[in-house]
Amino acid sequence: MLPWLEPTLLNTLATSRSHALLLQGPAGVGQFELAVNLAQSWLCESPQGGGRACDHCASCLLFKARTHPDLQILVPEALREGLGLVDEAETAKESKTKPSREIKIDAVRAMLSFAQASSARGQAKVVIVHPAEALNTVAANALLKTLEEPAGRLRFVLTCSAPESLLPTIRSRCQPVSMALPETAQALAWLRAQGLPEADAQTLLAAAGGRPQEARDWFESGLKGSLWNAVPQAIERGQSLLFNDWPVPRAIDALLRLCHDLLCQAHGAAPRFFGAALLPKLQSAPPLLEWEQRLRQAARHAEHPLNAGLLMASLVAQGQQALRAASRRELH
Ligand SMILES: [Zn+2]
Repeated sequence: MLPWLEPTLLNTLATSRSHALLLQGPAGVGQFELAVNLAQSWLCESPQGGGRACDHCASCLLFKARTHPDLQILVPEALREGLGLVDEAETAKESKTKPSREIKIDAVRAMLSFAQASSARGQAKVVIVHPAEALNTVAANALLKTLEEPAGRLRFVLTCSAPESLLPTIRSRCQPVSMALPETAQALAWLRAQGLPEADAQTLLAAAGGRPQEARDWFESGLKGSLWNAVPQAIERGQSLLFNDWPVPRAIDALLRLCHDLLCQAHGAAPRFFGAALLPKLQSAPPLLEWEQRLRQAARHAEHPLNAGLLMASLVAQGQQALRAASRRELH
């Protein structure tokens, strides 16, 4: 259980009045973990104070073994491994196709027959959809009727970090639960407990915009705080080698965050993702806005670049030119 979720969990257990909840807030703050905790609490056969799961009853044991018959989790294939939902048989199977980032209609159909069947343990049944924006249109429409009038004691928890991208008909059927970024001190304490040295925890938490899970994932994939701190100077010097080992979407995202911070600073506001002392002092915003536009274009195709090295070299060169131009002109 992520420590900052505790108050939201208890509050949601106490106040939820709908059979369908929509957990909404930034990604990387524990939406899936909250959904799982709610589901376990609802399925628990001996709930504790505040309605929390007991962790010991037959239902909780099945839940923890990931074999609870009254729980269905709908997530895109691409997220299954990261969420620990892949079993050994699946790992052994070699897949030729790239895992999908969508929740497909087949998964929703399987869930609909689960929704019709009676509860295996005679208690509630729970469906988790994570994240709801991964439902493609056909899948979302197939879900609607059951979401509105579920049979028996069926409950839904949907998560989402971009509510505006959901069908309004999905949103209107759910009770919203807002999730916020955890406080910095709590997030840093958690990151230290995950094994991050203090300096990395601080740098990467800021780099991730205050989202502790994202900071932890970056660290585990090899991104150290010192590497993040080297990004502004690499752009000033036009060096793209730094990004050789980064997945292209993350490298472009880092440049977009740098661009954001440079624009903040050019307008006299505090940067968010990089330390202020690491950023060059700029006089003018327009060259940065041009670079930002190029980066956004590149980000749209970042999953399948024809040549990652060339793409990054060109984006970095454009960044270097933008920085030079921005340090010359007057602020507009
Ligand atoms: Zn229990």
